Formats: sequence, C-alpha cells, structure tokens
Amino acid sequence: MARYIGPVCRLCRREGTKLFLKGTRCYTPKCAIDRRGYAPGQHGQGRKKPTEYGIQLREKQKARRIYGVLERQFRLYFLKAAREKGITGERLLQLLELRLDNVVMRAGFADSRSQGRQLVRHGHFTVNGHRVDIPSYLVKQGDVVAVAEKSHKIVVFEGVADSMRGRRIVPWLTLEPQLLRVNVTALPKREDIDIPVREHLIVEKYSR
Ligand code: SF4
Repeated sequence: MARYIGPVCRLCRREGTKLFLKGTRCYTPKCAIDRRGYAPGQHGQGRKKPTEYGIQLREKQKARRIYGVLERQFRLYFLKAAREKGITGERLLQLLELRLDNVVMRAGFADSRSQGRQLVRHGHFTVNGHRVDIPSYLVKQGDVVAVAEKSHKIVVFEGVADSMRGRRIVPWLTLEPQLLRVNVTALPKREDIDIPVREHLIVEKYSR
C-alpha cells in the first residue's frame, strides 16, 4: 500500500498540533511546531474562520496522518467500522490501533509508526510465530507479536529489551522484554487511545 513520502513536520504544522511523527526529535526544541507553530505556505499565518466542514476535515486528516494511512485505506477502515457493532468512531480508532506498525511502536520496538512500518516491511516481526511483513495487518486479541529470531542481533534491537523493562505501556499490551515480544491481551478502549482526535467529527464528515 502506498504511503506519504513528503516532509512530515509540515503535516503537524498544517494540523496545528504535534502529531509525533518523527520519534525522539518530536521531544526536542528542533520540533517544527515549537519553532514555527503556524500552517505552512504563503497564507499559513493568515486568520480564517474554519467552516464546520473544515473542522471535520481537519480531524479526519489528523487521524489519517498520525497513523500514516492514505485516504483510500482510511475510508475502508471507516466503512469497516460503520458495518460493525458499537460506536463507529471508537471502532475506527480501535482498528487503526490494531495495525501491526502501531503495535510495534506502542510496544517500544520503534520510536515512531513510520519506523515501525519500515521494520515490519523488512520482515523483522512475527505474529503467532509466522513472519508478517504487512504494516496494515490487523492484530487480534490473543495474538503474540515478536521480533523474528534472526533479527534479535541486529543493531536496531540492541538495548531494546533493557529499555522495555519497567516501561509504561498501553494496558491492552503485555511485554515480555527478555523474549522481545508483546502479547495483545485485550482490545484497546477509547480511554487507552491517547491521540488528540474527536472521532465523532470524522464520522460526521463521512456521513455527509
Ligand atoms: Fe511533528 Fe515531530 Fe516534526 Fe514536531 S518534530 S513537527 S511533532 S513530526
């Protein structure tokens, strides 16, 4: 599946908030939002009252950009969420959280979802013992996501086990640092998902 390959700090500036797309850099003074916290482009510093549609659009774009999903795939997530039982907006966020690249990031194997995506693409992870190299793969409750055995020695996973120990993690995942693996013990609830998005506005946007 295609992905956005342009400048990512520009996306944060467009949304007017930190989307944490660059891992550790996002916590340093180099963050573009701290240095130039206005929208990019010629009219970025102009003031314009957003329309109702504009507000809904921004919420959708924010969620899409946080999870690194292009429009077509995001819409498919929405349609899937709308077909299923429960609150559509919450289910939409739950589906996005269950993506393998997000789980890899949440577990602490990667600093950002884009790094998680790359590690998955390069075949460094297994799900229930089988290699999976599809970042959008949706994990299920009870799945075990692990670093593939042949990848344990590569530089990127050096010291990961130590950094995972004692780390606070989302309540729906359980870490086993010594085995470089994480168990999906539950499905994420809305209160477990800390992204700054008003999902009901996304539902309203797609329901127009
Ligand atoms: Fe966004 Fe991170 Fe860039 Fe800051 S450093 S603008 S949070 S991607």
